[in-house]
Amino acid sequence: MHIEIINTGSELLLGTTLNTHGAWMGSELIQHGFRVQRQTTVPDGPAIMEALAEAMTRSDVVIVSGGIGPTSDDISREAAAEVLGVDLIEDEAAMRSIEAFFARRKRPMAEENRKQALNPVGADVLANPNGTAPGVYTPPRLSGDYFCALFLLPGPPGEMKPMFHAEVTPRLCALADVSREHKMQTLRFTGIGESDFHTQLDEKLLAIPELEVGYCARPSEVDLRLIGSRENIQKAISYTLATFPTHCFSTKGESLEAVVVNLLTTQGKLLTLAESCTGGRIASRITDVSGASAVFTHGFVTYANAAKRDLLGVSDDLLESHGAVSEEVAIAMAEGALKHSNANIAVSVTGIAGPTGGTQEKPVGTVWIGLATAEHSFAIHKIHAHGREIFKQSTSQNALDLIRRELLKESGCPS
Ligand code: AMP
Ligand code: MG
Repeated sequence: MHIEIINTGSELLLGTTLNTHGAWMGSELIQHGFRVQRQTTVPDGPAIMEALAEAMTRSDVVIVSGGIGPTSDDISREAAAEVLGVDLIEDEAAMRSIEAFFARRKRPMAEENRKQALNPVGADVLANPNGTAPGVYTPPRLSGDYFCALFLLPGPPGEMKPMFHAEVTPRLCALADVSREHKMQTLRFTGIGESDFHTQLDEKLLAIPELEVGYCARPSEVDLRLIGSRENIQKAISYTLATFPTHCFSTKGESLEAVVVNLLTTQGKLLTLAESCTGGRIASRITDVSGASAVFTHGFVTYANAAKRDLLGVSDDLLESHGAVSEEVAIAMAEGALKHSNANIAVSVTGIAGPTGGTQEKPVGTVWIGLATAEHSFAIHKIHAHGREIFKQSTSQNALDLIRRELLKESGCPS
């Protein structure tokens, strides 16, 4: 089924509103096995007519968002009627629901709102319990030469999303033929880059028939996206895990922090953190996960040497002889955090985010990540020299992965 989305609104092209509807609809539809083939963004006004006529010539379904409000720039209804070659007539039930909406809020209804009850002849009115603009659905048989189903949905997300769930998805499922069984699964990796996939895995995956393979790289993270039948996805996952057994942290699209919180919860362990150059980023990511309070009570943000000394007990001697950014200090920070908390595992980070502060021996981007448990402590070394934001994100990624690997090792899994 060829599905296209048209997002209307000048604000989307002026950059004042981020067009989130296209991405949201795409992710909703793939969960039901539907692929969006194209997304077009047009300003308010006559451009919608041209975009609609064009999309309907090549699509089975067109979904339009925005432009069904009461103001003069909202002309999606008029555009649809024009393209379909039908009149707009006032729908009595839609008019009553708009009047009821204002009555519930004890507000007078403006004359302009009447236009929201206008519906192309033969189209279904889609109820909008969250606003005044009813949606519109015209089945393919009503689209004249096009044979294309058309949805008009409101722009405000709080109105569009419930209408999409209640009115769009069920109609699409009814329209679709039964062979619609494509699934999407996202595997997530850290510690390897896109080129590793190209050199070690791509060929095997491309040999699987009717499997769509896609990659998405972010700082210190790569997603592998598989779309196809359940059987082909399973085959691809087997090849992938055999090739990269320890770098895949999730086969279900979860974030690394969610995987870490999950492992800590399952093992009944508490985590603490001693962060310098990440300024709390690791704690922030951990606490993004619902249920984090069961595994994380507190961490330390020790940016200055004095804080490393006073809060973690790192000795002045160590700081002076090795410098704050060193293997020795990273280990001492992790050990100090463990000692000053009731945690079972502590991770520390100390590094040079830049752009200043680098030396020949310790260039910008240098970072040491320490780990301490009751049994052992050690530190690893990384360099991330691509600006402060990527430095922080990549370092937090390395730290979370170090925790993940430690927990897997303790549970007897390969790490
Ligand atoms: P409209 O139905 O065109 O009057 O849209 C009203 C509001 O919905 C606007 O103020 C936008 O903030 C929001 N909106 C419309 N389209 C989108 C979109 N594609 N993504 C995010 N917000 C949107
Ligand atoms: Mg608008």
